[in-house]
Amino acid sequence: MFWQQEIETLDRPALDALQLKRLRETVGKLERVPFYRGKFLENGIKPEEIKSMADLRRLPFTTAEDLRANYPDGMLAVSREEVLRLHTSSGTTGKPKALFFSRRDVDTAAELIARAFCMTGVTRRDVFQNMMSYGLFTGGLVMHYGAEKMGCLVIPAGPGTSERQLLLMQDFGTTVIHVTPSYAFYFADFLEKKGVDPRKDLSLRKAFVGAEPYTEETRNKIEAALGIEVYNSYGLTEMNGPGVAFECEGKCGLHLWEDNFVLEIINPATGEPLSEGKTGELVLTSINREAMPLLRYRTRDLSSVISGPCACGRTHRRIHRITGRSDDMLIVRGVNIFPQQIERVLMSIPQIGRNYVIQLEGLDEMTVKVELSPAGFDGQVGHLEQLQNLVAEKLRAELWIRPHVDLVACGSLPVSEGKAKRVIDKRTL
Ligand SMILES: [Zn+2]
Repeated sequence: MFWQQEIETLDRPALDALQLKRLRETVGKLERVPFYRGKFLENGIKPEEIKSMADLRRLPFTTAEDLRANYPDGMLAVSREEVLRLHTSSGTTGKPKALFFSRRDVDTAAELIARAFCMTGVTRRDVFQNMMSYGLFTGGLVMHYGAEKMGCLVIPAGPGTSERQLLLMQDFGTTVIHVTPSYAFYFADFLEKKGVDPRKDLSLRKAFVGAEPYTEETRNKIEAALGIEVYNSYGLTEMNGPGVAFECEGKCGLHLWEDNFVLEIINPATGEPLSEGKTGELVLTSINREAMPLLRYRTRDLSSVISGPCACGRTHRRIHRITGRSDDMLIVRGVNIFPQQIERVLMSIPQIGRNYVIQLEGLDEMTVKVELSPAGFDGQVGHLEQLQNLVAEKLRAELWIRPHVDLVACGSLPVSEGKAKRVIDKRTL
């Protein structure tokens, strides 16, 4: 099923030509933005000299710091009257990043979501319950508008309590949900405690899971726990929010909508492009936005391009699931570690539960605190020690350093209903 079959299956030369046309228009438009005008002058760039996609590399990067420095509306490329909506993305420090939408931008963002819904087999007969936060966060409204455009019944549940989520699901026959991976787990546990079997008692069949990077093992566990198909979604506020890239029914990477975004993978340390297939930082240029297009935005998300055609017939290239954030990388005893590596190991051990925390203390001491699965402990202390050693050994094989492992009772670590905080760094280095 396609939403916009012609554009979704456009052959490569036509897609390349469309990208170049839109890139040139965007660069021309950005001359009006003082930030970019200054950068163009500084680097001797004349918009009319952008003649091929290879010229993209001459254009400046845009960073989160640039957005904060130009907050609230210094990056706007249209007049204030043409702006219809504003979303922000809060960082851990300082001012938020603001993104503006024109009427056409609101509509385009919804189209991209509608494509994703069709691509995963969602139809107008589905009931979509959006469990993401509404308001300034894009995961609520942008997804909502897309689902409405597609034509299914939309329940704007927001993050609410699990009791209320369940009530809505039962009363209105929810078939599709949009949720973070950590809340999906939390909700699965909640159902178990309530004695609700999602396979028998609910109509759920699909979930869009995103907003936090997660592993293939996590996907498998959510699918098994809720009896549904889980599709990976990727987006960021700076590029519309959700809907930048989505999986099709093949679940073999996320199609990134190249008629809207130009994708590059770079070495985060040097800024140099990496060859296809290599993992690096995803850099995106929005070439179909009116209110606030961005050139070569440093997403800090790590991914790689999957080459070759997809069985679904879409020609837009696929990216691998996000494996982490370049700024999430931990350096422990001189070794580079991504929290996702730890998650992958933990999820592969059946006696281990789903909730974990990575604690860094003192002079580079790493402790991985992880919950046992409900059936993970038979009460024998000797078995617990064996399991602790097994987990530490598996982590050592993956990370090259051996962390302390602290196995704790199921349900004893804090649970977040939004984005999970996995790393607590209290080092005194
Ligand atoms: Zn596909």
